[in-house]
Amino acid sequence: MATTLTEANQEYVPRAWEDVACMFCGSRRNRLLEKFGPQSRYRYVRCDDCGLAYLNPRPRYDKEFVETAYGVYESTVEKLWRDGRLTDEGRRQYDWYARLLAEMASVTGRKGRLLEIGCHLGFFLKVAGEHGWQATGVDISPTMTRLGRETFGVNAVCGNWLEMDLMQGIDGGLYDFIYCSHTIEHVPNPADWVDRFAKLLAPGGTLCLEVPNMQSLDRRFKRALKRVGLRKDRWQGWRTPDHLFEPCERSFAPFLRSKGWKIIGLTTYSRKTFKTGPVQRLMHKTLRIGSNLRFYLRR
Ligand SMILES: [Zn+2]
Repeated sequence: MATTLTEANQEYVPRAWEDVACMFCGSRRNRLLEKFGPQSRYRYVRCDDCGLAYLNPRPRYDKEFVETAYGVYESTVEKLWRDGRLTDEGRRQYDWYARLLAEMASVTGRKGRLLEIGCHLGFFLKVAGEHGWQATGVDISPTMTRLGRETFGVNAVCGNWLEMDLMQGIDGGLYDFIYCSHTIEHVPNPADWVDRFAKLLAPGGTLCLEVPNMQSLDRRFKRALKRVGLRKDRWQGWRTPDHLFEPCERSFAPFLRSKGWKIIGLTTYSRKTFKTGPVQRLMHKTLRIGSNLRFYLRR
């Protein structure tokens, strides 16, 4: 996801706070899971009813918060693409996406019209386009979508996708595949998102949702170290706490089923490597304790 910066790297101090219910089940019963940030001012609580970890209280989710969190982005285009060609990091990322797209094609059994929600620089759209998909993306950032169009020539549109007329399609119809990676945990209304995904999919279409895994081995280990004082908080003061919730399989799977989705594939994964050896299979597919979660979903 994008890095966020406030003006001149000054410490971000929320102006107003709000107390919120669990975004997945609406419960207000919860207990403290973790404090973080400058002066430990942010708190993740865990819902007593569905197990979701979420920010509560949280900085009021208003225009000011959104502009602070997403108004200024660090550009990462040079990390991927320089002098008209892929950098080493760009090549690594390209290969990772190519393998993901092969996995997606094997899950769906078809290639076709693909929509990415939260397309950032549009690099995934570029790789998808070069692998036989008709790819379109939406992102809330005008800077990122412009850079994506200019650098990679992709069909990246700026806007709030919930309010855009995507039913007729940016390119004319419903989608065979929707990809939404590390984006939904940034919004206060995930239920609206998963409902809208369903409206935009063609019959038999597939949704792929990727989110961080709060219950990964790595995060559980770090939380345990922090609790006993062996690990310091590495939160940078200028950052907003832009993950409004932190899902795990236990909280996310029942939520998605309650919204009418069938889980047709579920794995954890690493964003650094796409290796599929015995160790990775055990960690990611059997135990599902990797750093991130990937759901394949259908109606
Ligand atoms: Zn809940």
